[in-house]
Amino acid sequence: MIPDPAAEDVVARGVVAKILPFSAVDGPGNRAVVFLQGCDFDCRYCHNPETRAACIHCGECVPACPARALSIAPGPGLVSWDPARCTGCGACVAACRHDSSPKARLMEPAEVLSALSRYRPFLSGITVTGGECGLQPEFLEALLRESRAAGLPGLVDTNGSADYAALPGLVEAAEGFMLDVKAWDEAEHRALTGVSNSAVIASLRFLLSVGKLSEVRTVVAPGLLDAEETVGGVSAIVAASGRAVRYKLIRFRPQGVRAAWRDIPTPDDATMASLAAIARGAGLRDVVVV
Ligand code: SF4
Ligand code: SF4
Repeated sequence: MIPDPAAEDVVARGVVAKILPFSAVDGPGNRAVVFLQGCDFDCRYCHNPETRAACIHCGECVPACPARALSIAPGPGLVSWDPARCTGCGACVAACRHDSSPKARLMEPAEVLSALSRYRPFLSGITVTGGECGLQPEFLEALLRESRAAGLPGLVDTNGSADYAALPGLVEAAEGFMLDVKAWDEAEHRALTGVSNSAVIASLRFLLSVGKLSEVRTVVAPGLLDAEETVGGVSAIVAASGRAVRYKLIRFRPQGVRAAWRDIPTPDDATMASLAAIARGAGLRDVVVV
């Protein structure tokens, strides 16, 4: 059954889109990645659009499944996913017109950690991402605490929309935060994501002030964003804080994005090098281009 995150009995449970047992690119070391379902941004270049919205149980994905892993449960008519039958082909996600997935599950932190138990000897931590994981703060804090107690510190990969200053328990439970700053200009950010960047900039300042910002990231998408302004703005604030924070500049790549945005070009080496030079010129020592 597809979970209802608004139900009263889900205080310590969260809607999990998927769990990736290994990643070497989502923080230091070898980390498991937990994707939470739901996001408050609608980025034009989103690489996980199926994690944006809650399933509305329309049933359109059910006939698209070649493995018969999807069905409509009798009674309330909710779409049901059978992980034992699923081959991971992705046809259901491709068929969904609502930026969702029939495979999102309501899970307790202990269930997430149990799913990772066989990989535990090879893991140095977890990274919680999305969607936007900050939209489920109670579950996120509980997961970070249980994971840390199990010897797996947790990083939070966030779009910065949550008011982290009002979530001290969550901030304490996290090993650190990786924050996306997508656009410095307010109008540009609205055009890209549909919302203001004021909360993002506030998160940048707050997480720096409490020493919990591990990494800032900006996706470079020529023709869509003024990356020079964004890199300059972020670098000035990070440099002024005196904190040692990695700034990762990420080339836009079309894999996984919606069809309408697959023609955005991938930036060349010279573009990325000039942006890295802006960050280093502002005083940042740890600037990475990927
Ligand atoms: S995952 Fe998408 S297509 Fe499938 S039932 Fe949910 S909203 Fe409909
Ligand atoms: S990924 Fe989706 S469509 Fe493919 S087998 Fe699994 S449930 Fe069916």
